[in-house]
Amino acid sequence: MNRLYGGIEAGGTKFVCMVSAGPDQVVEEKRFPTTRPDETIRQAISFFTPYTRRRELAAVGIASFGPLDLNPVSPTYGYITTTPKPDWNYVDLHGFVAQALDLPVAFDTDVNAAAFGEHYWIAANNALDPFVYITVGTGIGMGVLANGLPVHGLVHTEAGHFVIPHDWLKDPFPGICPYHGDCLEGLASGPAMNSRWGQNAEDLPDYHPAWELEAEYIANALINLIYAYSPQRIVLGGGVSQHAGLHVAVRHKVQRGLNGYIQSPVILNSIEEYIVPPGLGNRSGVLGAIAMAIDLLKS
Ligand code: ADP
Ligand code: ZN
Repeated sequence: MNRLYGGIEAGGTKFVCMVSAGPDQVVEEKRFPTTRPDETIRQAISFFTPYTRRRELAAVGIASFGPLDLNPVSPTYGYITTTPKPDWNYVDLHGFVAQALDLPVAFDTDVNAAAFGEHYWIAANNALDPFVYITVGTGIGMGVLANGLPVHGLVHTEAGHFVIPHDWLKDPFPGICPYHGDCLEGLASGPAMNSRWGQNAEDLPDYHPAWELEAEYIANALINLIYAYSPQRIVLGGGVSQHAGLHVAVRHKVQRGLNGYIQSPVILNSIEEYIVPPGLGNRSGVLGAIAMAIDLLKS
C-alpha cells in the first residue's frame, strides 16, 4: 500500500509516465505523443488511475517543459505559462493532475527534475552540491540544485538562452531562437544544427565541422555556468550530446577556455568525472519526477 510513486515527464513532443519506487524498481512505463492538452493530460491520468484505485501511489512528481509558474503563492502556480507550443498556453498541469488523482503532486521544470534525479539516484552520496544538469536536444535547458534544492527565483533559470560569443565570420548562421536569434539555444540546439547544416544532427558525420563549432558553443555555456554557480558536477545530457566524441571535445575546450583560472583538481586533472553523461540515460527527467515525489513526502 502506498509504496509506489508516479512520475510524469511532460515534454513538448512526448509524455513519459512511470510508476516506480526508483531506477531499479520500475513497475510500468508508458510514452505517448504530446497532442492537445486535454487529450494528453487525460491519457496521463488514465495511466495512473488503476494504481490510485488500489491505493498504491503515495505521491506524484511532474517534470514539465516550460516556462512554468513555480511560485507557490501565485494564482497560476503549477501552470505551463507563455509557451509558444500551440494550445499549451496557461495550462494548469499541476492542478489537473492533483485534482484527478487526489494525491500530493511535486512540480518543477524538466531540467530541474533531471538535475534532482541525477543527484538523488546517482550522486547524492558524494555530496556534489551545487549540481547542474544541462540538456542539448530540441531545446537547451539547465537545471541547478543548490543546498539540495532546485534553484527557483523570479521564475526559474533559463541558461539555454545564454548569450555566448558568436563569430559571424566563422559562423554566419543567424540562429533560430524566436526571441534572441543567436543565443545558445538559437545557435546550438538540435533544430539549430539542422537548420544551419541542412541535415539532422544525428546524420552529421564525426569529421563534419559542425561538431567543432557545437563543442565550442556548449563549452562556452559550461564555462559561464562554472563561473556563476561553481558546481561540483555538470551532467551534460540530451540527444545532441549523445554524439560520439562531443563530451571529449567539450571537456577539452572547457579546460582550454578556463585557462587554469579555476584551481580545482577535478577540472585540471580528471574533468571526465566532472562533465559527465547522465547516469540515468534518457530517464533522468521521469526518474527525477519520482525522486521529487518521494522528497515531497519527506518535507
Ligand atoms: P528532446 O529535447 O525533445 O527531449 P532529445 O534530447 O532526444 O529530445 O533531443 C532531440 C534532438 O537531438 C534532435 O534535434 C536530434 O536531431 C538530436 N539527436 C538525437 N540523437 C542524436 C545523436 N545520436 N547525435 C546527435 N544528435 C542527436
Ligand atoms: Zn533565446
